Amino acid sequence: MFSSLYMHFPFCESKCHYCDFYSIGREKTAAGDAPTFEKAIIEEIKLRGESGVIAPVLNTMFLGGGTPSMTPPDSMARIFGELFKYTSLAPNDGTEWTMEANPSSIELEQFKKYRALGINRVSMGVQSLKNEHLAILGRVHDEANALKSLNTVFEAGFKNVSTDLLCGVPGQTLDDLRSHMEKLMSFPITHLSIYLLTLPPHHKMYKDLPNDEEQLNHLLLIDSFMREHGFRHYEISNFARHDLRARHNLVYWQGGSYLSFGPSAHSYSSSERSRFKNFSSLHKYANTLIDEKKLAVEWNESLSIDQIELEKWMLAVRLDEGFSRAWLVRDAQKKKAELLINECLLENHPTRPDFLRATPRGFALSDTIVKMLV
Ligand code: SF4
Repeated sequence: MFSSLYMHFPFCESKCHYCDFYSIGREKTAAGDAPTFEKAIIEEIKLRGESGVIAPVLNTMFLGGGTPSMTPPDSMARIFGELFKYTSLAPNDGTEWTMEANPSSIELEQFKKYRALGINRVSMGVQSLKNEHLAILGRVHDEANALKSLNTVFEAGFKNVSTDLLCGVPGQTLDDLRSHMEKLMSFPITHLSIYLLTLPPHHKMYKDLPNDEEQLNHLLLIDSFMREHGFRHYEISNFARHDLRARHNLVYWQGGSYLSFGPSAHSYSSSERSRFKNFSSLHKYANTLIDEKKLAVEWNESLSIDQIELEKWMLAVRLDEGFSRAWLVRDAQKKKAELLINECLLENHPTRPDFLRATPRGFALSDTIVKMLV
């Protein structure tokens, strides 16, 4: 049974220039798309709920997208009204229920209503606090809008608030990054995710990306700044204080099971070692569910032994909990681990005897570690 759920809300104000999620900008959204989406996701919840795969009490739930905060609270209430026929939230905010939000769609009364539904964590896509960079990225908000929206989220009563930033943006300097983090530190945020902007080689901004050394400098500055401000760098791109790590994402990173709803959403069953994905088209997703009364699963795959081994290492290297030395079974692996320790990419875990973990530099170069050890 699944006690971690993900829901994908595909609508956005506008498509950002670097986005490769399944999302539809307002200019491409037809009038009937939002009601169709609501009807389809309710049908999907019903089919899954009736099949008995949803646990009676949820551990985590994550509303991602897209921009879930563009979905009005009354529509959310209808969607979750269906879900809570089959499951419930743990008492005393025991279920971590996160909603992603973008600064352009944050309004006080609306956020109070989301809070009243039971959502207890907000993850806000700030991305940058420099208007010039926000424009390059195709974001619709500006710095003032982002800071005001962050204030509104706290005013609405949310205490567990994460923000997202991007580093490695063309033209971004270390001073820009430091200034963004300083501004965010003036709010009582509990969590920060900072992702390195990555683009495919054919992308028009690809040639403007900072080189490897500059990217490494961005990542190392972020690591030292956030540690100095009392945050734990617990995952390659994630920092938490008061141990408020992103519990839902930890399910992904620790190889746990999750069930997902909505177009393009991926699910994983750890007991069956299988992954499945919904259609990445709102219309195909909705037609399959509403007209054919069938789950809108596009594909389903069982992981091979090699994939399982590779994923085990990729997941282990990305978390500060590290991995046991007992995983190094071959002599070649043991030698390579020693080499990685000498190069300051791996270190002995400070509190877990016989465990190794990535150093801050190792987090930035985690692909190298995985390639050497697998
Ligand atoms: S807001 Fe997020 S999901 Fe929407 S287009 Fe921008 S990056 Fe993609």
